[in-house]
Amino acid sequence: MERGINTRCLHLEETEGKTDNYGALSYPIYQTATYAHAGVGKSTGYDYSRLQNPTREQLEKVVASLEGGIDAFALSSGMAAITLLMEIFKPGDHIIAEADLYGGSVRLFDNVSKKNGYEFTYLNCSRDDIEGAIKENTKAVYIETPTNPMMNVSDISKIAEIAKRHGLYLIVDNTFLSPYFQNPLKLGADIVIHSGTKFLGGHNDTLAGFIVTNNEEVQEKLRFIIKTTGAGLAPFDCWLILRGIKTLGIRMEWSQENAIKIANWLKEQPVVKHVYYPGLQEHPGYEIMKKQARGFGAMLTFDVDTEAHALQILESVRMIKFAESLGGVETLITYPTTQTHADVPEEVRLKNGITPCTLRVSVGIEDIEDLLAELTEVFKGLK
Ligand SMILES: *Cc1c(COP(=O)(O)O)cnc(C)c1O
Repeated sequence: MERGINTRCLHLEETEGKTDNYGALSYPIYQTATYAHAGVGKSTGYDYSRLQNPTREQLEKVVASLEGGIDAFALSSGMAAITLLMEIFKPGDHIIAEADLYGGSVRLFDNVSKKNGYEFTYLNCSRDDIEGAIKENTKAVYIETPTNPMMNVSDISKIAEIAKRHGLYLIVDNTFLSPYFQNPLKLGADIVIHSGTKFLGGHNDTLAGFIVTNNEEVQEKLRFIIKTTGAGLAPFDCWLILRGIKTLGIRMEWSQENAIKIANWLKEQPVVKHVYYPGLQEHPGYEIMKKQARGFGAMLTFDVDTEAHALQILESVRMIKFAESLGGVETLITYPTTQTHADVPEEVRLKNGITPCTLRVSVGIEDIEDLLAELTEVFKGLK
């Protein structure tokens, strides 16, 4: 029987991973670039750290296990992971992508991937007709659910079924919910992306990215591309992420509990025009979330009445930090218009619902009383 997810965050070594000779509970950092051979044709299994390193391999096994994949690849950032994944395609290939993606992914697709001859069609995958956008050269559907930052929810199994029927890969960026709350591969996706910088690492202290797959062809291609291009995560950073993952479950649960309370508090504020949180029953994706995920996460977005109020909120938070990124133990508030989504063309941003009145919050694990006290003070001070 497969062990529970919290146990797998802690004890992989007893099943699939390796332990060191001294019984260290903290997996050792193998800070080495190369490995000595006992003789010609005799390898320890490790030859050079660009190809593989024991600390990285341990991390990859943990993440593969958490997502239910046959393999995982640890890269130097989320964007490094997505960039690398794009190497499995070739010039002329067409990809259908969610319109409300992380801004960095849109920047990559529009400025790098297109230059390499790839074609993209952006859709609101929670609403638009995906099947109708499929062309002869379509190779993949690339989604996030919930989306960043508007929290739109797509039905993963439904899209997976369309992708299967047309021989396309379904790629899901699962950063927002983490494997603790959602496992897209188990719902029919072929490839999962993570910014390990966010909930997996969880402490706002290191960058990392993952590709997880249950498709052998993709696995083989990616191993070759990683060996060749060399964006594998460094041993020390692997260790930081391994340590972060040990507390993934309790962090996700605690920050989600805070997020639900903040979402409900925001709803009561006269200056707040809309709260986008899929754990609210009125959210259009609530029922799909209940079906395909084990939780609603700790990310929420809200619109205030004026741009001036949005800016005042950003200027007056103190304990809550005005910062990019998400998924760490500290609560962060972000301004998508000038930060995460600044490189998304303005008309696209507005079409997706990201306005100068839109704020995104990554809820951390502080005491809820302190978070609400600070928000109360900030909102009271609005002029
Ligand atoms: C942050 C983020 C990325 C990019 O990851 P980095 O680690 O910052 O390179 C990709 N997708 C989503 C949903 C993200 O939030």
